[in-house]
Amino acid sequence: MAKPHVVVLGANFAGLGAAQKIREYARDSVEITVIDRKPYLLFVPNIPNEVFENRNPMLTLHMPVAEALHEDGIHFIQGEVRALDPDRQVVEYLPSERVGSAVEVLHYDYVVVALGARLAYDQIEGFAEYGHTVSDTYYGEKLRRYLATEYKGGPVAVGSARFHQGTMSQEYVPTAEAACEGPPVEVMLAFGHWLKTHGLGGPDKITVFTPAEVIAEDAGLDIVKQLLSLAGQMGYHYLNNVHDIKRITRDGIEFANGQSIEAELKIVFPDWQAHDFLKGLPISDDQGFILTDMTARNPRYPNVLACGDAAAVTVPKLGILAHMGGEKVGQQIALDMGRMSPEDANRPMHFIVNCIGDMGGNQAFAIRSDTWYGGKESSLKMGHIPFLMKMQYKEMFFRTKGKVPDWGIPASDFLIHQLG
Ligand SMILES: Cc1cc2nc3c(=O)[nH]c(=O)nc-3n(C[C@H](O)[C@H](O)[C@H](O)COP(=O)(O)OP(=O)(O)OC[C@H]3O[C@@H](n4cnc5c(N)ncnc54)[C@H](O)[C@@H]3O)c2cc1C
Repeated sequence: MAKPHVVVLGANFAGLGAAQKIREYARDSVEITVIDRKPYLLFVPNIPNEVFENRNPMLTLHMPVAEALHEDGIHFIQGEVRALDPDRQVVEYLPSERVGSAVEVLHYDYVVVALGARLAYDQIEGFAEYGHTVSDTYYGEKLRRYLATEYKGGPVAVGSARFHQGTMSQEYVPTAEAACEGPPVEVMLAFGHWLKTHGLGGPDKITVFTPAEVIAEDAGLDIVKQLLSLAGQMGYHYLNNVHDIKRITRDGIEFANGQSIEAELKIVFPDWQAHDFLKGLPISDDQGFILTDMTARNPRYPNVLACGDAAAVTVPKLGILAHMGGEKVGQQIALDMGRMSPEDANRPMHFIVNCIGDMGGNQAFAIRSDTWYGGKESSLKMGHIPFLMKMQYKEMFFRTKGKVPDWGIPASDFLIHQLG
């Protein structure tokens, strides 16, 4: 009899991790196919560091995935997923290596949605002409070149557009007004250092803004207070409650609350939206993110699982949560294959915000907090050790082709938060 076919949509942190964990836990009991529109993993968290260190992130942050998956007997398809039909159990995809391919249909017994989110820069007026960002290597390289050739040393604005979170996962996660505010805090701090080392001034040229009452509130109020107090002492400016970015102009940013700021350089993060073809499906929430419980399963379609930024419960949109979701997906498939006990597989995920951000000068801040999810853990450390751990994590990830040993993250946490 044919083995159950698991189709994983997406091959970045969530998709690659899920596929590898399914193979690890369910072993040879399933066939696995992974589909992604590009044949490499984009190591997003290190883009700011590469840009401010004047390295082209396109050359350093792409990791091939076909070979990594092949080693585990996992079939990889380079294709653009176009549709998912949970009743017929099929996905439609367009092979994406060359233009002109024909749409194909693939049947699944299980599907794992790990497609991340649509970063909606196209909905920010003026972004293409006057905006910058660091969320992929195209935009990272564009910023690096701008800094090298055009930037005159004028005022800088860094912050996020409003995130529109779905309303159907409130039993698991509070509502956030920005999708992921570690990156703006990181860019603010690292760019302050960049200005100093380039003889162009320092932190007092930079304003960080947030649509919310408090920036990075998912890190916990104690930590945010510490960060804001430190940033204020260093000279950074802070603007909260801007509601949303209305438009970016040559001279600055206009906000939805009527305020505006002048800036020569505008580094922004957009609304994280669900992919259009996921909106309105019976597996999706009111914004198109995939509904799951804390075992990564869809409540209506138990053969649909989701992890990473595509999942409705993943808020804030963080790689560490993609990693945890991928692990849980592997356990759930193993459970159904009789390869793992219900006690182990059904233990609900306990999310934790765990984020290391570059501050320039080979230093970083590290946040570890679960207060956003109702816990009591809250730790903020700064210095060289968190930076070393951030760089080492990427090296280890590439060396092991995504299979960072189970002790990798706990060891890093111990070094930073207990010894650091
Ligand atoms: C600047 C920046 C810094 C960050 N720093 C940190 C950090 O320090 N720590 C942390 O935990 N998180 C960090 N994050 C967040 C982290 O990058 C994301 O949470 C993480 O990438 C989510 O992983 P994912 O696999 O769910 O989604 P993604 O990384 O977005 O991957 C989605 C995958 O799906 C593919 N895909 C999308 N649509 C289709 C389609 N239709 N067909 C086929 N394939 C498709 C894409 O090609 C991609 O490979 C940062 C984010 C940014 C922007």
